[in-house]
Amino acid sequence: MDDMYDVIGIGIGPFNLGLAALMDKTELNGIFFDKTSQFDWHPGMMIEKMDLQVPFLADVVTLADPTSPYSYLNYLREENRLFKFFFYSEFKVPRQEYNDYLKWVVSRLQGLMFNHKVIDVVDHPQANDPHYEVIVKDIEHGIEKSYHTRHVVMGTGSKPLMLKDMTGLPEEDVLHTSKYLYHKEKLLNSEHVTIVGSGQSAAEVFLDLLQEQEYRDDMHLTLLTRSAGLFQLESAKLGQEFFSPDYVDYFHELPFDKRTDSLEMLGSLRKGIDPDTLKGLYRTLYHKTTGSKKANITIQPMTEVQEITTAGQGYQLQCHQWQKDSHFTYMTDKVVLATGYRPHIPDWFLERFQDKVEWEDDKRYQVTRDFRLVFHDDRNHHFFVSTNLTHTHGAGATNLALATQRNIEIINKIAGKQIYEEQRNTIFQQFTMEDN
Ligand SMILES: Cc1cc2nc3c(=O)[nH]c(=O)nc-3n(C[C@H](O)[C@H](O)[C@H](O)COP(=O)(O)OP(=O)(O)OC[C@H]3O[C@@H](n4cnc5c(N)ncnc54)[C@H](O)[C@@H]3O)c2cc1C
Repeated sequence: MDDMYDVIGIGIGPFNLGLAALMDKTELNGIFFDKTSQFDWHPGMMIEKMDLQVPFLADVVTLADPTSPYSYLNYLREENRLFKFFFYSEFKVPRQEYNDYLKWVVSRLQGLMFNHKVIDVVDHPQANDPHYEVIVKDIEHGIEKSYHTRHVVMGTGSKPLMLKDMTGLPEEDVLHTSKYLYHKEKLLNSEHVTIVGSGQSAAEVFLDLLQEQEYRDDMHLTLLTRSAGLFQLESAKLGQEFFSPDYVDYFHELPFDKRTDSLEMLGSLRKGIDPDTLKGLYRTLYHKTTGSKKANITIQPMTEVQEITTAGQGYQLQCHQWQKDSHFTYMTDKVVLATGYRPHIPDWFLERFQDKVEWEDDKRYQVTRDFRLVFHDDRNHHFFVSTNLTHTHGAGATNLALATQRNIEIINKIAGKQIYEEQRNTIFQQFTMEDN
């Protein structure tokens, strides 16, 4: 078939953007589709003053190829910001700058099609040249077109997780953090904002509104979370070594039940708040309460918000303090749900592939170490995934740094040769030992 691609990428978030950038110097022929009109990384949470959670070296190429023209340092050089960055001397960069860097990479690559939604993928295993037919809707022109490819990489990312009994309410009043900046002005014009949750996004929204309270000291700010407290994300360097290809090798080989236990055991590696954000939060609180000044805030852990209902002009939260086993209602004007995200698996995927692939359980599919779905048949036209991988590749599955590692393994598998070296013994720790 003349118009056969080597690979089609579904979704152009940082993960597949990295794949496109690393493929650029290869002979591989690929095309990438995204349903959004242009690249913009988590726009609802691109809060000014907030930093990326990982060092800038977790750009889309450097950990695979520091000489790549798509590196963060080259972006700074081209934007004439390298001297400023040199004097800034911080490993963590502003999240807004990282987003600008990703847009800079997009602007330099071919084969990235925005405003194009993948609406179906048809498997053709019997064809002379087994392949996938990717059906794409050009949103602007309303035209559907088929593209053919030997390999697919599904990078559809995540979706906001809305808890039951918290949906169906006006978004400007009860919103998920992913929509925060779209409604920030309205939140600031209200008397009382309540944030539900205790992860990074909860802390960032609370800190941002706390700093804005400077100008609105009559606005009350509440944070309720069912977690036992607002705790720090594990950031010690030996702990960080669990975000390495060596640990992913070890984790992937474990039986499924040991992997899920491990995720629980290593919860502090992905659940919690960045130490700098926590420090900024406490610092702001301390400065706001010098002398007789009071901070117009409430922070209560061990408190599950079970339901939200309208009450007069505002909302009533049904709450349960689980340690005291006490129930109470809490009135507020606005609610920001920092309830996290879940993997985004398009409907067509389940319709087309549910019965063709192996599953660990009803929601989690089996994936090889090099990110291929495990099909019932033995095939050479592969369906790679970069979403819904925590149960196969560990806590680092959504981590920007390991995304580059993943793209190395995908490119080498598609090319059938080592284009990028798959480095190992990258850390000080080991996880198994033979008789010495
Ligand atoms: C607010 C926030 C901050 C984060 N900060 C960090 C951080 O600092 N460090 C870190 O390591 N990780 C961070 N993460 C985790 C992770 O890096 C990000 O979630 C990252 O965006 C994941 O990249 P992705 O490419 O998988 O998915 P996404 O960025 O979610 O992109 C997926 C893309 O797929 C497109 N898409 C979906 N379905 C279709 C379809 N059918 N057709 C066409 N296109 C489709 C979507 O439009 C979207 O653009 C953060 C996550 C969030 C939510």
